[in-house]
Amino acid sequence: MKTKIERAAPPREERLQAGTAFCGTCMQLRERLGRKDGGCFNTANRSFGQSFGCQFTLSLAMLNTLRNTVVIVHGPVGCGFWSIGGYGAGRNMKRLRDPAQNSTIQISTNLDENDVISGGEKKLREAVLFADREWRPEAIVVASSCVPALIGDDVDTILSQLQGSVSADLVSVNCEGFKTKLMATAYDAVYNGILKNLTKKKIERENLTVPDKLDDIVWEYNKAHTVNVLNVGSMGRSDELELQRLLNALELNVNFLPCFSSPKDFRRVLDAALNVSICGTHDDYYVKYIHEEYGIPYIIDSMPIGRKGTSRWLMNIARHFNIEEKARLLIEKEDAALDKALEPYRAALKGKRAYVSGGELRIFVTAELVKDLGMEIAGLKSHHIDKFVKPVMDDLEISGDTYIDIASQHPFEQANLIRKIKPDVILMHSGGGNITAKHGLPVLPLFNPGNSYMAYAGAFDVACRLKRLISNSQFNRNMQKYRSLPYRKEWYDKEVFAYIKE
Ligand code: SF4
Repeated sequence: MKTKIERAAPPREERLQAGTAFCGTCMQLRERLGRKDGGCFNTANRSFGQSFGCQFTLSLAMLNTLRNTVVIVHGPVGCGFWSIGGYGAGRNMKRLRDPAQNSTIQISTNLDENDVISGGEKKLREAVLFADREWRPEAIVVASSCVPALIGDDVDTILSQLQGSVSADLVSVNCEGFKTKLMATAYDAVYNGILKNLTKKKIERENLTVPDKLDDIVWEYNKAHTVNVLNVGSMGRSDELELQRLLNALELNVNFLPCFSSPKDFRRVLDAALNVSICGTHDDYYVKYIHEEYGIPYIIDSMPIGRKGTSRWLMNIARHFNIEEKARLLIEKEDAALDKALEPYRAALKGKRAYVSGGELRIFVTAELVKDLGMEIAGLKSHHIDKFVKPVMDDLEISGDTYIDIASQHPFEQANLIRKIKPDVILMHSGGGNITAKHGLPVLPLFNPGNSYMAYAGAFDVACRLKRLISNSQFNRNMQKYRSLPYRKEWYDKEVFAYIKE
């Protein structure tokens, strides 16, 4: 059935039967994923939870990266607070694409108690007109938080009424936090806005100034050799350049979308032969729609992290273009060079035990990379779980006995688990690292836009940083010594997954 672009993307609990509560071993998880219903993970919950991520904040993290765009937070001013931490990195990344770029421009309608009674529409109209007059951006994106959804502001209608009065393209992103426990729904919410308001504005070929046949032939050739690689903010510029290097070696051109793009770049999404996801969790909502509406095929499979993940990712693309032999030779050459470079690092890391926590696909391919460095996997934790992880899990050689916790945040479970399994190092997102760091263990950020992670250059970079971190973890040992933990002994004595209920 053809996907309809609705006013808002549905929560992933409904759309994918994804879940945020599971406890057990990798073998148990694999068995459940193998069930006819794909595991149906949305039936489990917790009788106690510490915190979980809000999709609004992840939506903002993506939207703030857009170039030549003003973002309006439609809601209480506090909903936009989280953005402050990402301004610096976002600006730097934008400037790596275009040195003339400004920082993020974000304003808020600052809804208060009076607006809850009388509605936020007036403030929203004023904010849109102000943003257009003040900055003349290419696009104005309105991100709606819980309050406008609860009081019934019809943001899509307001924007369509205002569209004739402003020069910017108006984009509505309905990403209210209360609607889902799955932060990853944010990817769908942002893509929903892009599909509704930016992608459909396709430039027709006849309107372009390409007068003769030769230009047409060149355009067709370029289109047939171009792939869109989708970056929702989980790779930095060095990762983009590494993937571009590999795809260029296969004589393919590459566009990176949607993060750090300019609104007009979304028209170019249709001038490509293939959409390629770097992670199943990110892009299915978007690429399926583009395929059904515009006929552009897509690949959603593995993530190009570690040698195995990268080889799988490249071979999938090569298969589409019928250039498998060329890709095989490239992979062989890159593998040999990486093997040689990793020799001293493997010797230093051999036998060390790592705990990996983050997005469902990223943890598994990172675990594979860590194993390739001679280390062991002590445990895993994923923000959520859905069917996209199955093909990657089937291909991995992680012990079936390895514990996996599915938890969107809930650091108390992780604290308990790492006390019991005693890893040597933890790889996780920096935001959740503070409590973990107090347990005295070195923490390597699972992702940081300033570092490399993807493909061959990324594997080498991760090896260098892991070795440095493990050989000197004094900082975290001092943290353990001088900082108290937020949990009592009783919790550490308790069973890790005591609060998960089916
Ligand atoms: S849960 Fe709702 S009110 Fe809270 S930060 Fe998210 S969008 Fe704002």
